[in-house]
Amino acid sequence: MRLVMLGLPAAGKGTHGRLLAQTFSIPHISTGSMFRAAMQLNNDLGRRAKWYIDRGELVPDGVAAEIVKERLSQEDCRPGFILDGFPRTVPQAKELDAALASMQMAIDAAINIQISEAEAIRRIANRKVCSQCGSTGDPGAEVCKECNGPLVQRPDDTPEVARHRLEVYMVQTQPVVDYYREQGRLVPVNGLQPIDRVFMQICQRLARMGIIKTPKPCEATIRREVDQ
Ligand code: AMP
Repeated sequence: MRLVMLGLPAAGKGTHGRLLAQTFSIPHISTGSMFRAAMQLNNDLGRRAKWYIDRGELVPDGVAAEIVKERLSQEDCRPGFILDGFPRTVPQAKELDAALASMQMAIDAAINIQISEAEAIRRIANRKVCSQCGSTGDPGAEVCKECNGPLVQRPDDTPEVARHRLEVYMVQTQPVVDYYREQGRLVPVNGLQPIDRVFMQICQRLARMGIIKTPKPCEATIRREVDQ
């Protein structure tokens, strides 16, 4: 299964990308997390990406496409992968299609998690992420439930930077939604519902499209999450 997660910042791309990856035992590849990891290491990529991320701008297409292509060429991506935060522009989407075609692969579907801009702003203001593993923290929690790491506000979640990221999404990433829609690969879901409902809706749509056999494994994942 090869999927792309689309949606405004804080729509739930990371949450549902991680749940899908966990359910189907395939890698969850988040370009934002890869850039943040490079920034923590303060390597060349990190220093380059930081300049754009701090301003709420997109890192140049070539840089983003290179790290994704390198990651997708790794053995663990053979059975499938969930791409979260890539592609964010039409040139990136085209480059992804070309790179996959050269490996006799293709994106099966692009999940578009829909929320309003007002909801994105509200969620960003309240969002805390784990400074160790990048998971989104539970509301009101101080530590990450995945790894016990401290939860912090992302530097690019400040109101000014977040507002700019929403503008950038409308101009540069909304055309990516249209790109997948025109190709009949778009799966829109209502992101304003509770997490378990959104997740089950994604899985039911994937089952209906024949991308997964049944939504049953997703039910088991949700039950495990609730039990935790
Ligand atoms: P995210 O964690 O997906 O919200 O990404 C955080 C930031 O990383 C974005 O605001 C961009 O600056 C940068 N970024 C992540 N993915 C991409 C991409 N595919 N193309 C360009 N910039 C990206």
